[in-house]
Amino acid sequence: VKENGRNNIFRYSERLEEAFSRKKVIGRQLRSAVDNGELEMHYQPILSASKLDIVKVEALLRWKSPTFGPVSPAEFIPLAEAGGSILGIGNWVLRKVCADLRSFKDQGIRLKAAVNISGLQLMQPGLPGQLSEALGDNGLTADSLELEITETMLMSDESIITSLADLRSMGFCISLDDFGTGFSSLSYLRTFPVDLIKIDRSFVAGIQPGASDDTLVRAIIELSHNLGLRVVSEGVELKEQFDLLCNLGSDELQGYFISRPLPAPSLVDFMMSYASA
Ligand code: C2E
Ligand code: CA
Ligand code: CA
Ligand code: CA
Repeated sequence: VKENGRNNIFRYSERLEEAFSRKKVIGRQLRSAVDNGELEMHYQPILSASKLDIVKVEALLRWKSPTFGPVSPAEFIPLAEAGGSILGIGNWVLRKVCADLRSFKDQGIRLKAAVNISGLQLMQPGLPGQLSEALGDNGLTADSLELEITETMLMSDESIITSLADLRSMGFCISLDDFGTGFSSLSYLRTFPVDLIKIDRSFVAGIQPGASDDTLVRAIIELSHNLGLRVVSEGVELKEQFDLLCNLGSDELQGYFISRPLPAPSLVDFMMSYASA
């Protein structure tokens, strides 16, 4: 038993060290990820329930680490935020997304993109300028982009509210991401300058064939509409979820049931076959 316990402790600390060095390595590699051309954008179609048409995509970052291969943004974004490299990466995302939107437009595909904005980016006074430049360089205007922010960052800083109000007056729509998972208080919805809320996929996952729990999504959609906000449902994987959310009045739907996130060329193919279907 003693021998075994020592072994376990040894293995445990070894694993701890491994995890720690993985984080360190990833944090370091992210500093040169832009320059080394390791980043890529994927785009997930978002369906408008009333138009039954794809009107928007969410831009989702992909990164291949030279040592670890593909790493999920759920893992590397927090590390990029901790190490500050999110600012350079975030600006690369804005430029890349606008360039891709321009290229879609040139191929006859009109799309808006929802871009995830980190709290650190929001607190940078340079963000409005970066947005204007990325758009302007590609002949686009603010209505081409929607800015997705998460609830957690809303609470932290008073200046965030001012930033959001400024961005809105520039013509950007603001979307509150992962609604229901953060430190949200419903009263924030009244005071924060947002246009849309995205229902987190954990609530959508509660809708299952047979045993549906739609109490929460129903309440969130109703409340949002009463406050004049549009609702996007995330993580729609099943027909049952799609049908119910449409019936409940969700304005937009996103999830594997419609499409997975796609690299730009596959998105173009998807849009072409969608239009002709
Ligand atoms: P998010 O903003 O909540 O993005 C939605 C996530 O749900 C994406 O994960 C997407 O691939 C996944 N997803 C979409 N439909 C479904 C579905 O039907 N079922 C399931 N199970 N998952 C679905 P992804 O691409 O791994 O991104 C994870 C998170 O990383 C994002 O969550 C976002 O918070 C962050 N992120 C991604 N790209 C960026 C970026 O460019 N900048 C910043 N700051 N954060 C980003
Ligand atoms: Ca998002
Ligand atoms: Ca989300
Ligand atoms: Ca998220």
